This record gives sequence, structure tokens and C-alpha cells, in this order.
Amino acid sequence: MATLNNFSIPVRGLKSGVHQYNFHLDSTFFAEFSKAPIGESDVNVHLDFDKRPDMFVLDVDVQGTVKAECDRCLADINLPIEGQYQLIIKLSDHESEVDEVVYLPAETTEINVAKYIYEFVGLSVPMMKTYDCQNDTPPPCDQAVLARLAKEEEEQKTTNNPIWDELNKLSGN
Ligand SMILES: [Zn+2]
Repeated sequence: MATLNNFSIPVRGLKSGVHQYNFHLDSTFFAEFSKAPIGESDVNVHLDFDKRPDMFVLDVDVQGTVKAECDRCLADINLPIEGQYQLIIKLSDHESEVDEVVYLPAETTEINVAKYIYEFVGLSVPMMKTYDCQNDTPPPCDQAVLARLAKEEEEQKTTNNPIWDELNKLSGN
């Protein structure tokens, strides 16, 4: 877990107020987590860590790319990801079930934020992994497959489908 030592924040000695951290994540980071769905990657994380009298407020900004299989053409693409997340951490021996708040033992002196960041990066990966290949050179998508898909879609549009005709009548179009 040596790679993750950088993610440890010494909260007890920390002054009140906002502290800023920048992390760069690649495959070595994700390799620390078992069954991580993310491998090769290039992700920048900015963390605003706000120490308040009664809680810590973490604002996390995720931006970068992860290697993924395109849902459309099945090529390996650098899928852009981004997201903003907030997490509240409280130190308390009386845990209660409140959403979006993590309770850690009162005697906590350091908080390792790696696992929270890992979860937020996971949330940033879109369900549909397709790429807007127009804006990247060379385009990462398999152009031959995309061309074939476009042709098939065009053919489906022009093929008369009696079910769709009926549905269109019902919806008044
Ligand atoms: Zn593709």
C-alpha cells in the first residue's frame, strides 16, 4: 500500500481551514485495489480539504481519461471522465446512519483519502462507454466498425417496420 501513503492527511495537526491537494492517478494507484475495473489511466484529482470545528468537508474534482472498451466499436479508447463530489467526515464514537457522512473513530489522527477518491473516480466513469471520436486525432474508435454501424442504422431507418408504424399511429405522429 506504499503508493497510497501520499493520500494520508494528518488531520490532528492540521490547521483549520481549506487545504488543497493534487493527486495524479494511473494504473499503479488502481492496482492497490482488488477487482478495480480501472487499469491504464491518466486522472487528475484536486481535493479541497476543509477542516472545520466539527467536521471535515472534502470537495473532490476528478478529470482525466481511463482506458476502456468502446461500447460501440469495441476498440480500446481513452475515455474522458470528469466529476465533482463532496464528502463529509465526522469524528465520533457515536455513529449514526446519515447519508453522505462518514464517521471515523474520535481518536483518528490521520485520514487516508485514497479509498474515497477511488470511489469517486469509479462514479465518474459513464455507464455508456462511447467516445466522441470527432474531436481526437487520431480517432481512437474503430472507424471501420463505426461506418458499418452507421450503415446498419441507416438501413433500419429505411426498412418499414409494421410495429413502429402502428406505434407511431397510436402516439399521433
Ligand atoms: Zn468506438
